[in-house]
Amino acid sequence: MNTVQQNLERIREDISSAAAKSGRKTEDITLLAVTKYVTIERTKEAVDAGIVDLGENRIEGFLEKQAAIGDEAIWHFIGSLQSRKVKDVINQVDYLHALDRLSLAKEIQKRAAKKIKCFVQVNVSAEATKSGVSPAETLAFIQELAAYPAIEVVGLMTMAPNTQDEDVLRSVFSGLRQLRDEVAAQNMAHAPCALLSMGMSNDYKIAIEEGATHVRVGSALVGPY
Ligand SMILES: *Cc1c(COP(=O)(O)O)cnc(C)c1O
Repeated sequence: MNTVQQNLERIREDISSAAAKSGRKTEDITLLAVTKYVTIERTKEAVDAGIVDLGENRIEGFLEKQAAIGDEAIWHFIGSLQSRKVKDVINQVDYLHALDRLSLAKEIQKRAAKKIKCFVQVNVSAEATKSGVSPAETLAFIQELAAYPAIEVVGLMTMAPNTQDEDVLRSVFSGLRQLRDEVAAQNMAHAPCALLSMGMSNDYKIAIEEGATHVRVGSALVGPY
C-alpha cells in the first residue's frame, strides 16, 4: 500500500495540471480526504501529510475521527443526513455537502447553534439511486432556504455517474457549474453559492477542468480500501 504522502504528491500534481489546463489557480481548489473506509491511524497519516479537509459520510465515523483529531482539521459531512440524526452532528460540522430537502433544512434550523455552511446536493445525472434536488428545482429550492437563517448556501454538490465516459462526466460537471452560476447571479444574501463540490477518485481531474472548487477524494488518496 502506498503512503498517503506518495498518493498526495501525485494527486497534487494532477490538481496543478488540471488547474493550469483550465486557466485556474491551484489555491482555489480544496482537496478533501474522504476517510470513510479507513482507520483513525490512516486518517492521522493524511493529516500529517498536510491534508486539512476531511470528509466522512456517516455520523459514527465522523464523530470518532473528530474525537481523535479535533480542530486541526476542517470537517466536512458528505453523506445524506437523516433528519432525526441532525442533532447528533450538526454543530460539529464545518461544511455540510448534502442538503437536499426542506425537512432537513427545518431540522438544521431547529438544532443549529451557529450558521451552517451548506452545499445543496443536485442530482444532475437524474439517476434514481442518487439523492439530490433536480436541476430544474434547484433555484426555487435555494430561494426557499432564505426562510432558514441558520443555513448559508455556499455552493452546489453533485455525484457523477460511475462511468469512465469523459463526455458524460463533463456534461454532468459543467451542468452543475452552469446551475451554480445561475444561482450566484441572483445575489441572494443567504446563498452566495460560489463553490462547487464535485469530483472523486475517478474523475477529479475532469471535475477541476470543469470548475470544481472542492474535490472529494477517498480511495486514490487514502486507499486502497
Ligand atoms: C465515498 C465518497 C467519495 C470518495 O469516493 P472515492 O471514489 O473513494 O474517491 C466522495 N464523495 C462522496 C459523497 C462519497 O460518499
